Amino acid sequence: MKTLVMVGAGHSNLIAINLLATSLPLNIEIILISDVAKAPYSGMLPGYLAGNYSEDEIVFDLEKLSLHYNFRLIIGEVIKIDTNANSIKLASGETIIYDCLSINTGIHPQKIEGNEESNEHLIYVKPLSHLIPKWKKIVGRNENDLNFAVVGAGSAGCEVATAITLRRMGKVTLFTRGPQILPELGPGARNKVENQLSKLNIQVRTHSNINSLNSNTLMLNNGQSYQFDYVFITTGAQPNHILGDLTCDEKGFIITNKYLLASEKNNVFASGDCISFDKNPLPKAGVFAVRQGPILASNIQAYLDSHPMTEYRPQKEFLKILLIGDEMALAVRGNKSLKGYFSWKLKEYLDRKFMNKYQKL
Ligand SMILES: Cc1cc2nc3c(=O)[nH]c(=O)nc-3n(C[C@H](O)[C@H](O)[C@H](O)COP(=O)(O)OP(=O)(O)OC[C@H]3O[C@@H](n4cnc5c(N)ncnc54)[C@H](O)[C@@H]3O)c2cc1C
Repeated sequence: MKTLVMVGAGHSNLIAINLLATSLPLNIEIILISDVAKAPYSGMLPGYLAGNYSEDEIVFDLEKLSLHYNFRLIIGEVIKIDTNANSIKLASGETIIYDCLSINTGIHPQKIEGNEESNEHLIYVKPLSHLIPKWKKIVGRNENDLNFAVVGAGSAGCEVATAITLRRMGKVTLFTRGPQILPELGPGARNKVENQLSKLNIQVRTHSNINSLNSNTLMLNNGQSYQFDYVFITTGAQPNHILGDLTCDEKGFIITNKYLLASEKNNVFASGDCISFDKNPLPKAGVFAVRQGPILASNIQAYLDSHPMTEYRPQKEFLKILLIGDEMALAVRGNKSLKGYFSWKLKEYLDRKFMNKYQKL
């Protein structure tokens, strides 16, 4: 019996399992190791925070998937990968030997200096599974005069700030160290989001480099300080510390080749946000992990059958749809953008279609 171990219930691993479960011969066991039993889908997270979706609607129920696709699910945290010994170690102390390994563990936030996990005022948006229980607690307070800060004004930061505002629980300030929000967007699309944030009374503070958070006081590098009930951190992308002897780029992301292979032994694949693809960093967006899923499945199968592998070719442009208001989104592709109800409906349709494949089994 051969063993295929998938670490992390990220998008690519789940798509690959979906495809491999019906095509792999019965003498290959699939094991999925996830640190959470219900893995949230980030595309619908802003809608969940805004109150449009229930928790059940936005999570992959891994137990249910394991029964349907007949794989072994281990809920646990992988703490070490040893590609020489073909083994992985879990926090529980268990060691698992693999024939083929697929790593899809996403990113972790850059920690704010001088802070501990136990600070109830501090909420890291990633991992999403840790955010959900904290959000439920905040919503459960049933208050409408809370003071929120969101740090980081990329897509995730702008969507989180918007979603919190739509819950009408208080006021929201968005901090960015740069001169403007959404540096990755063109000026037309950026203006639309800026106008919308202003309509929602979200205050944007540019050139605001966060230094530390002391209890509920956010300190900036320029000496200014602000008090908040809750500070949401959306900045920074750091890979996992588990990657052991794999070759990584200077930021620590696993270097893969064009076949998504991460080791010269050809039996370790990596995909999604945790990789530096073919030495080229791709945007940290779920759409890339989703597109990598079928290639990952095909190359795992090719490795097991000793067949040639398929190249993954990242798309040059991709559709990004941001929640920017109540039933309102901004769809952006290249330098074109469309704001309004239609974009929101399109996002809703695409997200639900994707999730239905895993929820309506
Ligand atoms: C608020 C927000 C909104 C977003 N909206 C969009 C969007 O609309 N469209 C888009 O394309 N992108 C979006 N993104 C980006 C998107 O979240 C990521 O690009 C995407 O989730 C990456 O997927 P992944 O497959 O790499 O892994 P992830 O989805 O991050 O999953 C990795 C999994 O591995 C698990 N894991 C991590 N470490 C371990 C370990 N040691 N042991 C076991 N399990 C582990 C994690 O808990 C997690 O379940 C958004 C991000 C945020 C924060």
